Amino acid sequence: SSPCVLVTGGAGYIGSHVLHALTDAGIPAVTIDNLSTGRRRAVPGAVPLIEGDIGDASLLERTIREHRVDAVMHFAGSIVVPESVSNPLAYYRNNTVNSLTLLDTCVRLGVGNVVFSSTAAVYGSPERVPIDEETPTVPINPYGASKLMTERMLRDAGAAHGVRSVILRYFNVAGADPEGRTGQATPVATHLIKVACQALLGRRPALSIFGTDYPTPDGTCIRDYIHVSDLADAHVLALLHLRRGGESLVLNCGYGGGASVHEVVEALERVSGERVPATLAPRRPGDPPQLVAVADRIRERLGWVPKHDRLDDIVRSALVWERSLDHPAP
Ligand code: UDP
Repeated sequence: SSPCVLVTGGAGYIGSHVLHALTDAGIPAVTIDNLSTGRRRAVPGAVPLIEGDIGDASLLERTIREHRVDAVMHFAGSIVVPESVSNPLAYYRNNTVNSLTLLDTCVRLGVGNVVFSSTAAVYGSPERVPIDEETPTVPINPYGASKLMTERMLRDAGAAHGVRSVILRYFNVAGADPEGRTGQATPVATHLIKVACQALLGRRPALSIFGTDYPTPDGTCIRDYIHVSDLADAHVLALLHLRRGGESLVLNCGYGGGASVHEVVEALERVSGERVPATLAPRRPGDPPQLVAVADRIRERLGWVPKHDRLDDIVRSALVWERSLDHPAP
């Protein structure tokens, strides 16, 4: 049988989109997820879901052997920045220590291909935008630091043991599968587009717009929003690159453009014809005014061509998904 990719965190937001993309491409996969934030129903029916923790080396070992795994895509982890500030050691355990266990198991069993979910948070608050991959990595919170440590382990293990990796540094991931198969399902979300959809649907109080006095054209922060399905395609291409024997890469995942908070709200109102209840609020600590990727390298190295790179498409798919969730009224 053909080799199989082990996807950690396949029941979560981004991991589940990647499982669907792999399944669509006919690539066998298996996932380990502890279902702490993920949902069983997000996993495609054809993909075995093993409920368990990636800190469990013997579970990893059994899974890799039984499923003839030749590659790992590593999504499992914690992603809430303020939580990482109040509970840093939990972040180092879940993101860094568990990644060490996973990587160590890969080295021991000869699994030589790793695609890793990293983040633009490794850049901290850079002096210059747009941000290319050579920008110094100076994370400003434990979340970014916990991911950067894993990047470093991958680099060092690559040099010492020949493990090859594609490190994908995500900018602002948003939207949902255009076929409605999966989306961002955790009700306690903090990300702008999710929160704005919830506010529009009356599922939470008004959106707070954090900061209107930034040095940007309309005073609100600018981010590089990337559609989760385009990001999922990038993962499939990264896997194929490694399976072809391609070299290790570090790649920004964004479109190289930006939208402000006001522009996101306007897009949502345009596609829905409804108002987003919103109030102007003070700045949120730790938010840099602009985070926009230089996103040429991923196109050049992987031949990635985004298909959903219009803000209206991103917010529309997020809203369609949000409507499909049955949440109790607030
Ligand atoms: N934001 C906002 N209200 C919210 C959530 C986010 O105004 O309820 C702003 C936030 O200040 C930032 C942008 O939206 O400027 C994106 O924030 P998000 O948390 O989605 O992603 P981040 O860039 O922090 O990873």
